[in-house]
Amino acid sequence: MAKEELECSFCGRKKPETNLLIAGLDAHICDRCIEQAHGIVIEESKQSDSSDLSAELKLRKPQQIKEFLDTYIIGQDMTKKVMSVAVYNHYKRLLQPVSNDDIDIQKSNIIMVGQTGTGKTLMAKTIARMLNVPLAIVDATVLTEAGYVGEDVESILTRLLQAADYNLDKAEKGIVFIDEIDKIARKSDNPSITRDVSGEGVQQALLKLLEGTVVNVPPKGGRKHPDQKFIEVNTENILFIAGGAFDGIERVISKRLNMQAVGYSASISDDVVDQNHLLQYIIPKDLKDFGLIPEIIGRLPVLTYMDPLDAKTLRAILTEPKNAIIKQYKKLFAMDDIDFTITDGALNFIVDKAIEYKLGARGLRSLCEEILTDAMFELPSSDEKKFNVTKLYAEEKLTKTTLKKLKAVS
Ligand code: ADP
Repeated sequence: MAKEELECSFCGRKKPETNLLIAGLDAHICDRCIEQAHGIVIEESKQSDSSDLSAELKLRKPQQIKEFLDTYIIGQDMTKKVMSVAVYNHYKRLLQPVSNDDIDIQKSNIIMVGQTGTGKTLMAKTIARMLNVPLAIVDATVLTEAGYVGEDVESILTRLLQAADYNLDKAEKGIVFIDEIDKIARKSDNPSITRDVSGEGVQQALLKLLEGTVVNVPPKGGRKHPDQKFIEVNTENILFIAGGAFDGIERVISKRLNMQAVGYSASISDDVVDQNHLLQYIIPKDLKDFGLIPEIIGRLPVLTYMDPLDAKTLRAILTEPKNAIIKQYKKLFAMDDIDFTITDGALNFIVDKAIEYKLGARGLRSLCEEILTDAMFELPSSDEKKFNVTKLYAEEKLTKTTLKKLKAVS
């Protein structure tokens, strides 16, 4: 065939009409057809993505969901169990065939109560990772009612869209983790005559999202892009997980338990109440007494709590989870062919300091960084192939000043 007669075997365009004509065995394809074909491939893969979820759920029953959580999160057994069931039911609801039996499975949005650093965010992240759905993490403290300085609640969905690469279908099955939900509690000393910008108003605005509704979402968020077109996001199938420390809620629980104990219908008497772990007795009413409006509590029907982290848990967090901090350092050093080891004595020392300076699980990483920075700076340029951290080495690197600095930033 003469050169000028070459044409695209798909659309028939002659070579001069194309920007590029690629030859195959006995066919040719032009740049336009390649682009079109690429679009088809992307579309197809999007469609097969959406069936991932049902495959995922067929594979994982609540016990398996918990087993997955176990590989990333230490302890918190009660919450893992509750979450496994809630997540399982939530996605079962998504997959329910249309039926006419009038039984409408309600959403199982979740609220987790527990001190900061006990793994609430980690829990939400791990579930999103397992289900392979997008996750948006938002801080309730930055939310305000529409029209005030701060972010509108719709911005939550902008984040989710971004996390889903603007794939609406995926975003509508995603997970939103709202952190510090306790910070928008109605303050009891703040009578509702004055407008409560950061409290009740935001709770009211959130309600709509939690309920399941179609929201007009500015895809780029904020009010800086007034011309942007809105995307309609249906929140019906989005799983909301709220978390908060609820500082002082133990007092509310304790007061309620005491009243019950004195009252006629005493169900938990004083001698069985574990005063050190009062969170385990939390009920929705306690959240109401803390300042969440009943409607919000009603939309977060699964209530669970996180245990405070003790020395044993902190020690396990260092080494056991799938991507435990120590495993990460081991990998980093291995990339320079250095065999990194750390003694039990050094690990216990790190845990002791995390507790003494109240640094929590988050502090474990900062402590390790302080201990290992010198070595990570020096060893890659040396011939050293082994690096063992002992308690003595850790003690030398962690001076009192460093510890105080860590405490100040924690
Ligand atoms: P929260 O959201 O409750 O403030 P995070 O989930 O952000 O706490 O936890 C802080 C850090 O501590 C995370 O990086 C996580 O790796 C670690 N962590 C906390 N609790 C656990 C746990 N139970 N198991 C494993 N790691 C944990």
